[in-house]
Amino acid sequence: MDDQNLSDISMKGAPACGRCHMLVARYAPQVVASTGTYHRECFEAWYFGRYGKRPALLAGANGDRHRFQVREAAEVRKAA
Ligand SMILES: [Zn+2]
Repeated sequence: MDDQNLSDISMKGAPACGRCHMLVARYAPQVVASTGTYHRECFEAWYFGRYGKRPALLAGANGDRHRFQVREAAEVRKAA
């Protein structure tokens, strides 16, 4: 798979964004949701398109200030 090769070359262990499928750099602003990892911009664009409002993001997921969790995770799961 191309995804596997990309991971090996550039950023070992970096997840691919669930929306644009580009790798999410370790220190890039990112959102960790139940459905996967997203660039923060990608997640906000997707969320806004779906719900018509910006998501409530909580910084500091897993002790990393670049990572955000979605406060309305239950709402996202319900709608998915
Ligand atoms: Zn993305």
